[in-house]
Amino acid sequence: MPATPDRPKTADTPTARPGAGGRVLVVGAGIAGLSTAWALIRRGFAVEVFEAGPVPNPRSSSHDEHRITRHAYGPFAGYARMMPEAFAAYERLFADLGARHIDERPILVLQREASDWFAASLADLGALGIAHRELSPAAIAERYPMLDATGVSAAFLSEGAGMLFPIRILTDLVVHLAGRGVVFHPHTRVEAVDQEAGTLRAGGVTHGGDAVVVAAGAWAGRLVPELRGLAVPSRQTVIYLAPPPALHDAWRAAPVIIDLGERSGTYTLPPSPGTRLKMGDHHFTRRGDPDDDRVAEAADVARLEAAARLAYRGFDRYTRLEHKICYYTVTEDESFVVKPIGARGYLQSACSGHGFKLAPLISEGVADAIAGARPRDGLESWAAGREETGGRRAA
Ligand SMILES: Cc1cc2nc3c(=O)[nH]c(=O)nc-3n(C[C@H](O)[C@H](O)[C@H](O)COP(=O)(O)OP(=O)(O)OC[C@H]3O[C@@H](n4cnc5c(N)ncnc54)[C@H](O)[C@@H]3O)c2cc1C
Repeated sequence: MPATPDRPKTADTPTARPGAGGRVLVVGAGIAGLSTAWALIRRGFAVEVFEAGPVPNPRSSSHDEHRITRHAYGPFAGYARMMPEAFAAYERLFADLGARHIDERPILVLQREASDWFAASLADLGALGIAHRELSPAAIAERYPMLDATGVSAAFLSEGAGMLFPIRILTDLVVHLAGRGVVFHPHTRVEAVDQEAGTLRAGGVTHGGDAVVVAAGAWAGRLVPELRGLAVPSRQTVIYLAPPPALHDAWRAAPVIIDLGERSGTYTLPPSPGTRLKMGDHHFTRRGDPDDDRVAEAADVARLEAAARLAYRGFDRYTRLEHKICYYTVTEDESFVVKPIGARGYLQSACSGHGFKLAPLISEGVADAIAGARPRDGLESWAAGREETGGRRAA
């Protein structure tokens, strides 16, 4: 990183230790911002994290009981190829945290109408050497008494998948980073970033750094106008459920489930210690404002409940524990927008509903670019899953 002879007046941050690489300002304490801070301190940078809400923030996309991780990636072959590295990046993170917040279990993919997603995943799993096998609809009905196999035309069960536990990961990351001198600015909404100077303004104060990373999730377009045309906030609904007692054991042993279908189109994360059974909607609404009241209305819930009635046997015997509204940004082709902006800025919008599993890997790529260990130019296509190989160095 080049020297910065003419830094603007900096806010007083006495505990920020300048690292070998300089000081980086990160906007957002979701998984993107926190794992970028983690990757940066590993490379010798001093880091300050600015967060509009509490740290971590329950309104962030990242804050939830569980997230799916998997190698099966449908038509997104580039992301499938990145997944072995993404799993390895999480292992580096877990080693630093001293805890593995992952429950490795298979993923069951159900196909109703013929889809590219199903066939492409099978091809990629074969190419990556991930163990998997196809199951007949009759086998689904027999093995999974809680599922309704009516209308399922094909299915496969794949290893190399499971559930990550975001609340635990975020919390441990915050503790880890604070212990290594990262300065947190909670309840501090950044008003503007200067991507040429590597600075930002919050509460009327300009904070100086050598680089600035905008990892502001569904709000990122407010700070980086060029994102507005590329990614829109999307209001999404999830349901947390208590199954009937007779299905308790079956659900505890269940795989993660993706149900592909025009009218179904859901994903299910089974209950495990510390988490509830959850169903989410695969369909993007591409509407809404992440600052709205997030109260689930009948219109939010209707499609998901109709899909659940197709997917689960006797869905009306389940107790609806919570309907939750969350936001992420969605791009046209579901890729991430991660790129240099200006001379000293980076945009890290790792969303489209699948960014949690890849966040530490993408963050290592951003940190490498800031450290000059990989070309800034290649970052965008790599993070969009458009490269044949990851092409990055591990720290
Ligand atoms: C319902 C749902 C299900 C999902 N399922 C999966 C899944 O199964 N697998 C998977 O891999 N991914 C999944 N995702 C996607 C994944 O959770 C997101 O890609 C990821 O959490 C995005 O992280 P982020 O850090 O970019 O954004 P966020 O977690 O939203 O963090 C951004 C932070 O920036 C802060 N901020 C915004 N503006 C400012 C500002 N001006 N100043 C200061 N702070 C600011 C916000 O308050 C927020 O805390 C899912 C997402 C949702 C919502």
